[in-house]
Amino acid sequence: MLITKIPRLHLGNLPTPLEEAPRLAEALGGPRLFLKRDDLNGFALGGNKIRKLEFLLADAQQKGADVIVTTGALQSNHARLTAAAARRLGLRVILVLAGSPPNLERAPAGNLLLDHLLGAEVRTVTAEGFQEMTEAATAVAAELRDKGHCPYLIPVGGSTPIGALGYVAAALELYNQLYERGLSADYIFLASRSGGTQAGLEVGSRWLGIDVHIVGISVGPRREELATTITTLATETAQMLGWPQSFHDVIVDDEYVGEGYGKVSASCREAIRLLAQTEGVFLDPIYSGKSMAGLIAYIRQGQLGPHNTVVFWHTGGVPALFAYGKELAEGGELCLS
Ligand SMILES: *Cc1c(COP(=O)(O)O)cnc(C)c1O
Repeated sequence: MLITKIPRLHLGNLPTPLEEAPRLAEALGGPRLFLKRDDLNGFALGGNKIRKLEFLLADAQQKGADVIVTTGALQSNHARLTAAAARRLGLRVILVLAGSPPNLERAPAGNLLLDHLLGAEVRTVTAEGFQEMTEAATAVAAELRDKGHCPYLIPVGGSTPIGALGYVAAALELYNQLYERGLSADYIFLASRSGGTQAGLEVGSRWLGIDVHIVGISVGPRREELATTITTLATETAQMLGWPQSFHDVIVDDEYVGEGYGKVSASCREAIRLLAQTEGVFLDPIYSGKSMAGLIAYIRQGQLGPHNTVVFWHTGGVPALFAYGKELAEGGELCLS
């Protein structure tokens, strides 16, 4: 496959572990469950954006970039990992984050604290949605270009065809691990938002001819909008690989968004506690907690049973836990005795 010829950096500690979760499976009385641990991919506290950044920053280097600009929410994992990866390459980094300026009376928490430690230049903007964030970041890049710099702009979530290549490669990695253990999965569950992760997995799976249901649990966008984003991106990614294919049917479920992106839901809170208390593994409150809430609901509703084998793709995000202490402690008893 052409993918091996495309420039790529090595940032992550790959392959990531594929671990069985028998106590979680027992608690749910459902399918055989495996966790694909991209939260453990070994760089700057981990997460799915590392795989995308391996391709994106190789492209930036080839283009002679001297500053990396990207955008996201205040607690963006993508922004934190972009900042860390840029530092690894000795590059300046500007993060254009949507939100009100952090209250300086309060210490920065979670990803924002890590951005601070990485020495990223953080600019906050009032922006609603991907388009406004992208416009704000594009303006910053233009300003830098006017000053004689060579900026490389990475859109929200790194979800471009180049970024999605990281998850084409990740799909090949997973099927290799399953094959070596004599297993096959009939479902993959993951959290989806900007779509690059799911698009890459769709391309990689189809390339290998694997018959699998990839269920993207939306953590924000409505189902039709996200499905269109993913099919478009998957089609473009395949094209980049010299493999003309069009993607139409992808599975997206937007039932587990709760009150909105970045808002902790009761089922997300329960999912985080359940995985922690059965397997000692932490999820995050914005993405993987919600995708696990989706998986739990499918099992409880009987859509998945003991005859199924499911891979839950842990996409990372754990540092955000520390910015959501209040929301997460709600409704649970603290053991203080
Ligand atoms: C960005 C992110 C996702 C979503 O990935 P997309 O490629 O944007 O759909 C899922 N989980 C975590 C922890 C993330 O940071």
